[in-house]
Amino acid sequence: MAGRNFLFVPGPTNVPERVQRAMVVSMEDHRSSKFPDLTRAVLVDLKKIFKTETGTPVIFPSTGTGGWEAALTNTLSPGDLVLASRFGQFSHLWIDMVKRLGFKVEVVDCEWGEGVPTEKYADILKKDKEHKIKAVLATHNETATGVSSDIAAVRKAMDSAKHPALLMVDSVSGLGSIDFRMDEWGVDCCVAGSQKGLMLPAGLGIVCMSSKALKARETSKQPRCFFDMGDMIRANETGYFPYTPCLPLLYGLRESLTMLMEEGLENVFARHTYLAASVRAAVLEGWKMKLCAKHPKWYSDTVSAIVVPEGINGAHVIDVAFRRYNLSLGAGLSKVAGKVFRIGHLGDLNELMVLGAIAGSEMAMLDVGIKIEPGSGVAAAQRYMRSNDPTPKKKVARSEVVYASQSTGSNEGATV
Ligand SMILES: *Cc1c(COP(=O)(O)O)cnc(C)c1O
Repeated sequence: MAGRNFLFVPGPTNVPERVQRAMVVSMEDHRSSKFPDLTRAVLVDLKKIFKTETGTPVIFPSTGTGGWEAALTNTLSPGDLVLASRFGQFSHLWIDMVKRLGFKVEVVDCEWGEGVPTEKYADILKKDKEHKIKAVLATHNETATGVSSDIAAVRKAMDSAKHPALLMVDSVSGLGSIDFRMDEWGVDCCVAGSQKGLMLPAGLGIVCMSSKALKARETSKQPRCFFDMGDMIRANETGYFPYTPCLPLLYGLRESLTMLMEEGLENVFARHTYLAASVRAAVLEGWKMKLCAKHPKWYSDTVSAIVVPEGINGAHVIDVAFRRYNLSLGAGLSKVAGKVFRIGHLGDLNELMVLGAIAGSEMAMLDVGIKIEPGSGVAAAQRYMRSNDPTPKKKVARSEVVYASQSTGSNEGATV
């Protein structure tokens, strides 16, 4: 098929060409005296992405799922009780893992389309006078339903109950795209992966640990080996890894972190909010359809789950979009299978890419018999884009910096 595939699943996301090129490397000795430069650079910049001064990022050759396991097994002991809420396939899978690893879990089931039930969390934590609950789980961005939750409010609920449990957050589809504040929100373990906001292929499970979480590790009795953070952190301190790291992914991460810094994290977030709002304009104002997210406060700026009308199978829309228009949309998972299709709008994206996805979705929906006004979604998104500013605090682009330094005869930037 001529032209390129439009990849609009909420992970893996588009890998920028700069990052792709950075990953084309010859293999090298990961025990060389030069190698620590790479390790250290990546770990220092990851802390900025997590917005932490005191946290410790740990990178496993794994995925987000491995990150979940690392967070749980490094801090808890067999039989420990965990508080969690389920409102989508990813929050469900983390709960399932908690059980399969032999921990106990108190689950608050919510409607799919809602977010973390902070008031219920506060009630449950207040009643837990003996502090049996050792960890509170929160899915920052539920990718299955397009729902973002207020992590600061979860922290508040825990503080109002004066509860000492660890706060564990899954921000696999949030980190690097929407605001995340490890230190300010008092998050103890934050789980991320490489293939979403960090714009890389899958293959890295990244967990940032607070000093409180690392302290819990010292008394944790859960068996673990591959995912043991002690080995990892000890090796990282000298700039190395306890086992062979995935070099291309680390070089790619080095580059994607550089790109996020160049754009400026706040600008990255603003761009995601703006592009997400344009998608929502297409869905709500243009197509006059509904989102799976039940309330605007839960709208995710990285993924939208769009509810298809009764009698239509969302999987049909996705199949036509892919086969006829080379557009990859996200499927409805589990409880919402067939009921929604998802547009992932995170990572390396701009206006015209998003308009392409909206145009393709629109055609696929018309093809399967959904009665929308042709062109209405594209028009609504265009209207939104033309009357809003994506990056209010735009920084000087690196290309402009290079040009300026060259014109003054300075050597700075010459190697850029
Ligand atoms: C993608 C995703 C995961 C799972 O990550 P993998 O890298 O596929 O293991 C977990 N949680 C959320 C919210 C996700 O979006």
